[in-house]
Amino acid sequence: KINKTLHIEKTDFQQLDMIETDEFGNMLVLDGMVMTSERDEFVYHEMIAHVPLFTHPNPQKVLVVGGGDGGTIREVLKHPNVQKVVQVEIDGKVVEYSKQYLPHISFEYDNPRTELIIGDGFMHILESTDEYDVILVDSTEPVGPAANLFTKGFYSGISNALKEDGIFVAQTDNPWFKGDLIRKAIHDTKEIFPVSKLYTCNIPTYPSGMWTFTLGSKKYDPLNMPDSRFFELDTKYYTKELHYASFVLPKFVQELCEEKK
Ligand code: SAM
Repeated sequence: KINKTLHIEKTDFQQLDMIETDEFGNMLVLDGMVMTSERDEFVYHEMIAHVPLFTHPNPQKVLVVGGGDGGTIREVLKHPNVQKVVQVEIDGKVVEYSKQYLPHISFEYDNPRTELIIGDGFMHILESTDEYDVILVDSTEPVGPAANLFTKGFYSGISNALKEDGIFVAQTDNPWFKGDLIRKAIHDTKEIFPVSKLYTCNIPTYPSGMWTFTLGSKKYDPLNMPDSRFFELDTKYYTKELHYASFVLPKFVQELCEEKK
């Protein structure tokens, strides 16, 4: 139920709708797809960030591709080892209206450790070599400006932009309606990274409620870490136990990951 329309605009890249809803607070919608809401945003932003950032023993430099609402960099900056988080977001209007209407999500843009670049994440990856410890692809669906953020070439570019022990995570949609996307992402990632796994979380405002992330790692395994790696963190969804449990997949999702592309 929508109480109020806060801002509607056709930007250079997409239709941007910012609305106030009854159940989920303020909500950002891009090209008709729910991106984030005040009520359930913490699930996605905690899970895209803390699984790789606890897996890496010393994540100092992090790249976020997309992430215009600011939630992912907010979670990344909870890790004291992180000296710099670079965010490459193609649409400055998403940042502008997230700052205005999603203040609890977008407040780390002013952090001295944050570097915001308004540009195409695909180009930034192609221009980066041996640069980042962790890369998080917090993009929209593979349509419009995000179309080439789900290609094997992009994942190869990510590998090249990562340091020799780097880790990447990309949001890879839901297994109910986007099985092909997940099958391809896992298949491509397995061909490029020695460690490649899918993990899930529950997001009520996303199609089907079950969301996935594809992880590719050059060295560290998210399921094989010393307990000392974990430290207390201000979260509402992520826990050490859930870190491990999120990689346990329903059978039909496991089979998706094992099928040929
Ligand atoms: N959590 C959401 C999801 O899973 O769909 C994503 C949220 S975030 C708002 C997605 C962002 O990706 C948008 O702000 C969009 O402008 C940005 N984006 C899409 N294509 C991009 C590209 N090629 N380079 C950089 N940012 C891009």
